[in-house]
Amino acid sequence: SLTAGVIAVQGDVSEHAAAIERAARAHGYEITVHEIREAGIVPDCDLLAMPGGESTTISRLIHSDGIAPEIVAHVEADKPLLATCAGLIVASSDAADDRVEELELLDVTVERNAFGRQKDSFEAPLIVDGLAEDDPYPAVFIRAPAIDAVDDSDAEVLATWDDRPVAVKQGPVVATAFHPELTPDDRIHELAFFANDDAVIGDADRAESV
Ligand code: GLN
Repeated sequence: SLTAGVIAVQGDVSEHAAAIERAARAHGYEITVHEIREAGIVPDCDLLAMPGGESTTISRLIHSDGIAPEIVAHVEADKPLLATCAGLIVASSDAADDRVEELELLDVTVERNAFGRQKDSFEAPLIVDGLAEDDPYPAVFIRAPAIDAVDDSDAEVLATWDDRPVAVKQGPVVATAFHPELTPDDRIHELAFFANDDAVIGDADRAESV
């Protein structure tokens, strides 16, 4: 069976854990989800989620707790990571804020709170690469960042809104400006963990009896 981790120093953790459990079950995997608040657990995880919340706080805590280098090693080992909203900001290569120490897992810069004050939070039907074109993903944006690819970026844009990238994939990392854990639609978690060619969980791990 599989082991998953949700970085749980701050942010919306339990919703991600529930979405991971549902997505795993839908793909025939048994899974145990750990909420990670200390170093030493990430190395045991087959897949990871880094949630939304407050990016400056998440950045500070994963570095002071020694979790940050473990997340980098996880991705270097080609294991899947889903980074959402503040998680995307932390995973980026430049968040234009000294309080965020970026993990540089994605060749993208981000603009925090890019969609404007009066539109602090909104839902948008997104056409996402890899998901059915005639079945838009209901994406919930909350003080969301926008993504800008850097020159020669290896990041592939999966979805745009208002002409700006809001979901990208680079190797085993899928990152979204929105919150896929806040809707009952688990297709982003499925894409990140079970349908991403660069990060497919081995068949050997599939539970026989689920
Ligand atoms: N605006 C937040 C930040 O910059 C991110 C918002 C979120 O994760 N919902 O950290």
